[in-house]
Amino acid sequence: MARLCVKLNDKDNVAVALNEIQPGTLAIDDVVANEVIPQAHKIALADIPAGKPVIRYGVVLGYAMEPIKKGDWINEFMVELPEPPGLDDMEYGKNIVTDLPKAPVTTFEGYRNPNGGYAGTRNILAIHTTVQCVTGVLNVAVKKMKEELLPKYPNVDDIVPINHAYGCGVAINASEAKIPIRALHNLVKHPNFGGQIMAVSLGCEKMTIDKLLDEKDINDDNVIVLQEKKGFDAMIDALMEMAEKKLKVLNERKRETLPLSDLCIGMQCGGSDAFSGVSANPSAGYASDMLVSAGATVMFSEVTEVRDGVHFIAERCVNAEVRDKLAAEMKWYDNYLLNGEVDRSANPTPGNKKGGLCNIVEKAMGSIAKSGSAPIVEVLSPAEIPTKKGLIYAATPASDIVCGPCQLASGITLQVFMTGRGTPYGLAAAPVIKVCSRNDMKNQWPDLIDINAGPAATGEKTVQEVGTELFNKIIAVASGKDQSFAEKYKLYNDLCIFNPAPIT
Ligand code: CA
Repeated sequence: MARLCVKLNDKDNVAVALNEIQPGTLAIDDVVANEVIPQAHKIALADIPAGKPVIRYGVVLGYAMEPIKKGDWINEFMVELPEPPGLDDMEYGKNIVTDLPKAPVTTFEGYRNPNGGYAGTRNILAIHTTVQCVTGVLNVAVKKMKEELLPKYPNVDDIVPINHAYGCGVAINASEAKIPIRALHNLVKHPNFGGQIMAVSLGCEKMTIDKLLDEKDINDDNVIVLQEKKGFDAMIDALMEMAEKKLKVLNERKRETLPLSDLCIGMQCGGSDAFSGVSANPSAGYASDMLVSAGATVMFSEVTEVRDGVHFIAERCVNAEVRDKLAAEMKWYDNYLLNGEVDRSANPTPGNKKGGLCNIVEKAMGSIAKSGSAPIVEVLSPAEIPTKKGLIYAATPASDIVCGPCQLASGITLQVFMTGRGTPYGLAAAPVIKVCSRNDMKNQWPDLIDINAGPAATGEKTVQEVGTELFNKIIAVASGKDQSFAEKYKLYNDLCIFNPAPIT
């Protein structure tokens, strides 16, 4: 008989329904459903008295607010959120796994980076901006560039304006302004942009050009100041002329066979459901372990979605320094939320809850699974560039459209995105591969989901099989031999740069 529920850990007193379960149905072992259990929601495997723990993934999701009977549906209103794990004195190095799954290949076809560091997966002319004010003019110019210039340079994949909401009307000297400034500064060095620098400034903004570019790069070959141009036509002419010079250089770039140690990718999830932690994220974790074992760098992020499992991450940190930075990033975020008079319980969305995630603990345990089991060699503040290779925790908000640009600024050249509920999310500067957690999701969006991890939930495939499929997809897309659906349709979200500092 096909399985109706998934139980993940021997300690669990709940299982998750693969499809809606009708009352009176034998759901799992000797447990009969007392009522309708919606798809992805939890059924109690034993009586749980009031105040006793509800356990999934072998961890306490929370405490029963009223007595729960064996066979009952457990929803978000029945579970009290526990205290978050403490951040002082977390153990490190206790769970260092070195026996990682072997990668089927150890090279990919990438663009060597003239700046050194990670290789590119795409060859893009990026046009950086110091301020939102220039966006209108730049967008008109980019449309013209794509029509008139890009077809002449077939080795260049795209022209991407780095438009953002930052740059003026902001408290540029606020201590946390360093985050958006660092993000925009580091984006200039992104491996997919091939070391070519083109920047547009208005001329009177607070984010002056020296904050965007290194001093050696500030010159007339790289920077256009709109206020110095005589009218609109002169602006467009200058932008077209500079773009063509850069396109000529970029057009000479060629892919080379490179070791996977030159590849840096990011992992993110969004629109998660209770299967994300059963199928999509563990499969991504397996692919991540293969990449890391072959020398690649993999980042995972989303502070509020690891906060409740941070002690498990700390155990995988290779030394005290990495553990300490992990704790510091978590504390920073706790305070950031506190200043807004909210806490981590602000995270799960209505869709997450409909998808069976009762609270942030359950969401976090599923989210962490995408990091696999490799040791964590470095922790980054938002938008920092790594100094180590391997598995890296890059602290960012969990918001899909903010995490993406943060990881891009840290240098990822491809992102893997796990979803349960479905989102068409994508990034213009790097391909995004979409992995779904359920077969129904793939059936709903067959032409938007790249990899279906649903069979790992139903038992038709193993996590290892789906993980290997994903690994192969990552290599093919990174090598330019394949495109993800988001890239094919150009489903590109705005670059929402994380700005925790005041706006004036
Ligand atoms: Ca997210």
